[in-house]
Amino acid sequence: MVCLVCHSDSLVERLNVGSHPVSSFYLKNKGDPERNFTLALGQCNECGTIQAMEPVRHESLVPPFDWIFAREPEEHLDEVVEQIIAMPGLGPDSVIGALTEKDDTTVDRFVRNGFENTWRVKLDEDLGVTDPAAGIETVQKLTDPERMAVIAARRGAADIFIARHITEHVEDMQAFIGGIGALVKPGGIVMIEVPDCTDSLRLAEYCMIWEEHSLYLTPETLEPLVTIGGFETIRTDIYRRPFENSLVHLARKTGAPGKLRISSAAKNQVGLLDSYARKFQPTRREVRTTLERVRSEQGPIALFGAGHLACAFVNYFGVSDLIEFVADDSPHKQGKFLPGSRLPILPSADLVGRGIKLCLLALSINNEDGVIGRQGAFTAVGGEFRSIFRASSRPLISQ
Ligand SMILES: [Zn+2]
Repeated sequence: MVCLVCHSDSLVERLNVGSHPVSSFYLKNKGDPERNFTLALGQCNECGTIQAMEPVRHESLVPPFDWIFAREPEEHLDEVVEQIIAMPGLGPDSVIGALTEKDDTTVDRFVRNGFENTWRVKLDEDLGVTDPAAGIETVQKLTDPERMAVIAARRGAADIFIARHITEHVEDMQAFIGGIGALVKPGGIVMIEVPDCTDSLRLAEYCMIWEEHSLYLTPETLEPLVTIGGFETIRTDIYRRPFENSLVHLARKTGAPGKLRISSAAKNQVGLLDSYARKFQPTRREVRTTLERVRSEQGPIALFGAGHLACAFVNYFGVSDLIEFVADDSPHKQGKFLPGSRLPILPSADLVGRGIKLCLLALSINNEDGVIGRQGAFTAVGGEFRSIFRASSRPLISQ
């Protein structure tokens, strides 16, 4: 298969977790039809990049609701902005450009530091997209050198350009990074941020796999990407998190766009996916056996958090028959059914009401304590919380 990063014919499939629907397509009725996509990961023997064998196309990812949003961790952004501002050649007149609404809070930080000359690519004005539910999946597809050159001419090429949490969604890296190159002045700086898959690969966390992500990057495989746009690496920083570190890559535009320059560090990543793939079936069996035992010894089990992590857990591991429902306090989701498993989504008060004994947390590890703190009624009657993540301090199955 052809690698979506280096375009070589060296992409080899290592893991297939089955055929599943898109996680944001909540069902209004339990029996509504669904469209499934095969989720398989491979690694390129040429450039080392771990990727979806067949990324789900952007048209199939636009959610049928306009209330879906993703929030990325932001604790590190003050530090990143300070680092950029301290770089030579920048001043209050510098132009700050950004790609999606995920970048607004970073741009705000530049404004607070006296950089007022800012703009962001707008879906409607710049890309002609009017669907209010369209988002990152559509922007990544439309980011190419031709479209971006037009935007640069209209808004002014950027001295600093921000693109957080979109590169891992890209279907054609040559077009995407080439597009970013067209938005940045010679000598200008780009900040690209992606989730770091290193820990998930090491800990065999399969909820890492998400139909919206085409790429599963590590610091080593992230760094070469910018060479496509004529950029040279300044630095890559890893901001540590309990689940998925944030990788921030800063690079300067020093040349013309061209082919990917593969580094030896990236090439050395070849093989990284093998043990992750090998551990999938044993992990799947262990999860099932553990849940069967809890269910027979303690009682009913529920999930908490009706998002893509819950979908991944219940669908990839095939355990929907062992789970009663998914608790979620978002009014938009309540009364609907989780894609794939078709489990009902109910208010968290039902944990007590329906006699749940074990509640599995399917949300960012950072938010586990907060959720548990608000569920005193459940713990007061002996309810127990466990996390679907091995990296949590309360894992369902340990490392
Ligand atoms: Zn490749």
